[in-house]
Amino acid sequence: MPLYEFSHCPRCGGLLELKRPPTEHRERQICRDCSFIFYQGLKVAAGTLPVRDGRLVLIRRGVEPGIGLWSFPCGYIEKDETLEAGAVRETLEETHLEVRLTALLGAYSYPPALSDSRVAVLAYLAEVVGGELSPGDDATDANYFSYEEIPWKEIAFRSTLDAIRDWRAHPATPPSGPRPA
Ligand SMILES: [Zn+2]
Repeated sequence: MPLYEFSHCPRCGGLLELKRPPTEHRERQICRDCSFIFYQGLKVAAGTLPVRDGRLVLIRRGVEPGIGLWSFPCGYIEKDETLEAGAVRETLEETHLEVRLTALLGAYSYPPALSDSRVAVLAYLAEVVGGELSPGDDATDANYFSYEEIPWKEIAFRSTLDAIRDWRAHPATPPSGPRPA
């Protein structure tokens, strides 16, 4: 995906051109007609790593990107909600689980060469407080995994891998190994 993927002004429909505003240090897309400066930062997504009895919930994605692969429940934050509310909402929509956030696990972003989705991902550690696990919305499957059961070869995104490793290393995560039933 090119860095600048739009050709027309979202405000008036005029043509965008690449110019450096006088007070800035890099070029921006600026409208020829109305001078609108089209700032395009990373999109923000948030989600949770829901945990019950030491096992982590992952969902199998039913849509691109990463269709058929596993990730934690996560999605774009709406303009009128907080990161925390969005993470809880996405989790409910994709897993039918009610969760309580317990910690900010990590914030993940990557250079364009390593990821073509220009997104900043916030991942919260969460405990499951209600609901019954089943896939919802864009998910085709949902399951609990111990660290040993993680489907490493079928993980959707680099941020998923990094967040699972950070979950494993988090002080709240009990040591690996068999546990009493
Ligand atoms: Zn314009």
